[in-house]
Amino acid sequence: MKDIPEKFLRKEMPDLPDLNEGEVVRHFMHLAQKNFAGDTNFYPLGSCTMKYNPKSSEEISRLPGFARINPYQSEDTTQGIMELLCQMEHLLCEICGMDAFTLQPAAGAQGELTGALIAKAYHQSLGRPRKRVIIPDSAHGTNPASATIGGYEAVEVKSNRAGCVDLNALKEIMNEDVALVMITNPNTLGLFEKDILEIARIVHDAGALLYLDGANLNALLGICRPGDMGFDILHLNLHKTFGAPHGGGGPGSGPVGVKKGLIPFLPVPLIKEENGKFSWDYSRPHSIGKLHSFYGNIGVIIKAYCYLRMLGKEGLRKVSENAIINANYLRVKLREHYRVPYDKTCMHEFVISAERRKELGVRALDIAKRLLDFGFHAPTVYFPLIVNEAIMIEPTETESKETLDGFIEAMSKIAREAEETPEILKKAPHSMPVKRVDEVRAARELRVRK
Ligand SMILES: *Cc1c(COP(=O)(O)O)cnc(C)c1O
Repeated sequence: MKDIPEKFLRKEMPDLPDLNEGEVVRHFMHLAQKNFAGDTNFYPLGSCTMKYNPKSSEEISRLPGFARINPYQSEDTTQGIMELLCQMEHLLCEICGMDAFTLQPAAGAQGELTGALIAKAYHQSLGRPRKRVIIPDSAHGTNPASATIGGYEAVEVKSNRAGCVDLNALKEIMNEDVALVMITNPNTLGLFEKDILEIARIVHDAGALLYLDGANLNALLGICRPGDMGFDILHLNLHKTFGAPHGGGGPGSGPVGVKKGLIPFLPVPLIKEENGKFSWDYSRPHSIGKLHSFYGNIGVIIKAYCYLRMLGKEGLRKVSENAIINANYLRVKLREHYRVPYDKTCMHEFVISAERRKELGVRALDIAKRLLDFGFHAPTVYFPLIVNEAIMIEPTETESKETLDGFIEAMSKIAREAEETPEILKKAPHSMPVKRVDEVRAARELRVRK
């Protein structure tokens, strides 16, 4: 006590709540029940892939052998986890058709930054630094942000009427200044970029590198490989595609894969395997350095590893096939009630527009909020930016037909309400503990307690 100056010492006992254990437990249980979660409700958040995350992977990641190791332990006491990480890198290489992976980045966005820095190191190594990164207008907002943080100028390329990258527009802006072209495939409209081989040719002819935002790889697993499409660098989101939970700010994991020529630039350390012994390799003179402490969020990687081993090759392909058929089922059913601006066979997600309801005073946000009253989490709204009043829906492969049918019914009821009783939608949600909030103010003046 004598280390704390007298003026900071309390004179009276603090006014702590006087509660017994049972009351405290109930308080927290009730708070937890106010949450909307993938474990309680259908959560069709486009681009975010809120699928069911197996509880068995959760259990395994908490085994003492994983949970109680410390990154400062010596290598000879961590051979097991290093072997698992090394195997994980091999699995991801095989799934993606890439030559090496780093598991260090902690999120998709950090993977993008890693990719941008690798591209920078690559062009510098050739003695011709470049200034620009080209990104489609339908891209996730993190793409231009990562390019900018990586020291580049982000340049937009337009989509064509079919919702894909406009090849002529791309050709026009490709030049010796372009370091990297970042493509999302399938793109955020849920459409496969059919001209991807041609895009790769245009990019490589100009001496630039091709980057895949692979956050949503769950449409491609076991069907086709980004490495075969000409991508030089990519990131994955283990916390979306590979069954590790996300939301609430993380943790996540955004591994980055590269083709052979880019391996020297990967962040340090890499795992080295020699005669069945694993070690951390820091002696990599061309590396871009460190992106994260130690080797990333290992707990997340363990869960994703369990998911991969549990499903195997056949299982992974089924993940994508079911994600695709679920999305197409919803798209075809919902187009009876909503406009689908790019209405063709989609991959794992699709975008509808609430624009027709705007003259009734009803916006995408109102529809999203009303869904909560029917027990469904709101889909992603107002993204991608190229669709007016966008509502982006991703059912994922883990939902049953009954759940999808329930969602279709709720959406058709809401379409009817928009015509007949729009005021119900404007004030939704009615059944949640928190009613309609001022979203802009909520973001700018963050107050998480009363
Ligand atoms: C989620 C997502 C990202 C960003 O990933 P984070 O882990 O949230 O940083 C990037 N691109 C796309 C297409 C995404 O869906």
